[in-house]
Amino acid sequence: MPAPYKDRFAGKKVLVTGASQGIGEATALRFAEEGAQVALNGRKEDKLIAVREKLPKVSGGEHPIATGDISKEDDVKRLVADSIKAMGGLDVLVCNAGYQIPSPSEDIKLEDFEGVMAVNVTGVMLPCREVLRYWLENGIKGSIIVNSSVHQIIPKPHYLGYSASKGAVGNIVRTLALEYAGRGIRVNAVAPGAIVTPINMSWVNDPKQYKAVSSHIPMKRPGEGREIADAITFLAAEDSTYITGQTLYVDGGLTLYGDFENNWSS
Ligand code: NAD
Repeated sequence: MPAPYKDRFAGKKVLVTGASQGIGEATALRFAEEGAQVALNGRKEDKLIAVREKLPKVSGGEHPIATGDISKEDDVKRLVADSIKAMGGLDVLVCNAGYQIPSPSEDIKLEDFEGVMAVNVTGVMLPCREVLRYWLENGIKGSIIVNSSVHQIIPKPHYLGYSASKGAVGNIVRTLALEYAGRGIRVNAVAPGAIVTPINMSWVNDPKQYKAVSSHIPMKRPGEGREIADAITFLAAEDSTYITGQTLYVDGGLTLYGDFENNWSS
């Protein structure tokens, strides 16, 4: 595991949505290891407190807990305002929370489709809007990173809501990036492939399924949460000051049309 860049984010304030486990937790940990104060969003306070206990303490103060449902306007207004107040500012927003529900598309329930869109799309728009208002009022040149998916461009049968939501996220990022580039605000996305997180443990812990999943990935293994955190922190840092409106695929080559590794068509 690469050593974190010591103090790369010293004095910086970060809000991570969906930080109670998986990629969000790995991202919060990575920011804190590099000196940032991190507001932890999720719906369950006890889980967020457990994550906070794993984060290194930083000079800026305690990492605040920012409980709330990211798809609900009142929750988002409150938790963004509380995070800014608790940390005395905000420099980076990571919109990470997201989920999916499987169903053949002919049977998809409206409430399931709308539920996924509410968290994965509205749950990106609302925190972006609140944070952009604060940055514009205060002349802050902040950075937003949205956690998308390879399914931003690869179709995902049986997951219509998820595919639609991640496609939408790609255009949210490009639109916001263009709208605010002149104000010095950057907006980018990371798009993970198959990552070892709690939601994937059924195949991760089954050697046969693990092998089957890995066989579809050109690098022949799933990624780790920290490898997504590597990309998110890069897009938040001084290392990427001229990058905006981009989606960085972090997928072990999954978007490279792996079937073409050995020529079969000519
Ligand atoms: P996860 O289920 O482990 O974590 C998701 C987090 O979001 C949890 O903390 C959950 O509580 C939170 N969350 C869900 N709904 C919420 C809501 N309404 N309000 C606030 N928080 C909410 O998932 P993960 O695998 O870490 O995925 C994180 C992100 O990465 C998602 O956007 C997902 O689409 C994306 N992603 C994951 C993978 C993967 O293989 N794990 C691949 C591609 C993209």
